[in-house]
Amino acid sequence: MTATNPDSHSGLETGSGLTSPVEAIRDEILKRRRFLITSHARPDGDSIGSQLAMAFALDALGKEVRIVNADAAPDHYQDFPGMDRIEIATRVERPDVDAVIVMECSELGRTGVAGLEHQFLVNIDHHAGNQMYGAVNWHDEASAACGEMVFDVIQALGVELTEEIATHIYLAILTDTGSFHHSNITPRTFDICRQCVEAGVTPAVMARRVFDSNSFGKLKLIGALLDDMELADEGRLAVLHLDDDMLAATGSTNNDTEGLINLPLTAREIQAVVFFKVTQTGEVRVSMRSKYDVDVRKVASEFDGGGHKNAAGFTVSGPLEAVQAGIVQRLVGAIAAGLQARP
Ligand code: AMP
Ligand code: MN
Repeated sequence: MTATNPDSHSGLETGSGLTSPVEAIRDEILKRRRFLITSHARPDGDSIGSQLAMAFALDALGKEVRIVNADAAPDHYQDFPGMDRIEIATRVERPDVDAVIVMECSELGRTGVAGLEHQFLVNIDHHAGNQMYGAVNWHDEASAACGEMVFDVIQALGVELTEEIATHIYLAILTDTGSFHHSNITPRTFDICRQCVEAGVTPAVMARRVFDSNSFGKLKLIGALLDDMELADEGRLAVLHLDDDMLAATGSTNNDTEGLINLPLTAREIQAVVFFKVTQTGEVRVSMRSKYDVDVRKVASEFDGGGHKNAAGFTVSGPLEAVQAGIVQRLVGAIAAGLQARP
């Protein structure tokens, strides 16, 4: 069962007699008892929220659930319900489950978890270019967060939207829309959030927990990063650099880096940001963010990465000096194309 139509959440359900992707996923889940849920390496709020919302829904159906991720989530997610259920492992020896639900991954390798290849895979994702690697696939680029898709699956399963589930769906949407900044937000996004708030979620508390829970080290890091920021393309592109020395000097850790990339976008002139993180192995992790129609995913795809129009990333082998100019040049092109498209 596949669906590549951007409107796939409704596209195949129109009385044609065909099963929609959501119905197919519902049927496969109801038939099975033991599940493993995974998501991409270096999980973000959408990964965590989508996984835990699904886990609580499967609990409600009396299923057995394991959650396995390659990396731990950033600290400010640790107090959310169910976080202690997540196992951190880069290999699962004998999964011993009836299905693996993979969230947020355009290919299975994005999980960073080995040993899942021959399982019954349920693929739920909203990133462009999904490889349809599952036995059941639901790919919907029109969803602002994978959490929106999980919401639909949970409804199809007939599970009540409890406060715990609503908290995780809202967390997924709040974070993956860049706190309601990105251009893929629809009326459906708010309709789901409305139902989450009716189920007991307090938006002010969620925003404070996710965005206003910085360490002092992170505040110092923000100062250092912005002090060091370079501008290109007549101020339309911001370039940020981070390495381990900077973390040490400011008393911060890798855990404190989430969201920093968004800071330059608060300047009116800046249309895109690129964030270079030099890792200990000498690889360069590149993250990009943009406004409106500036398509950074296109740039990421030239380097075997991926993501969305306004948020994308990839990793290249360094050194930084050898790769930076080419990436900046492509971003300048993306900004020109995006500005041209703007009404
Ligand atoms: P990040 O900059 O790491 O926060 O990632 C931004 C978006 O791009 C997220 O939706 C990621 O899942 C996606 N992304 C980042 N790196 C890759 C990659 N190497 N391949 C595919 N998607 C990626
Ligand atoms: Mn996502």
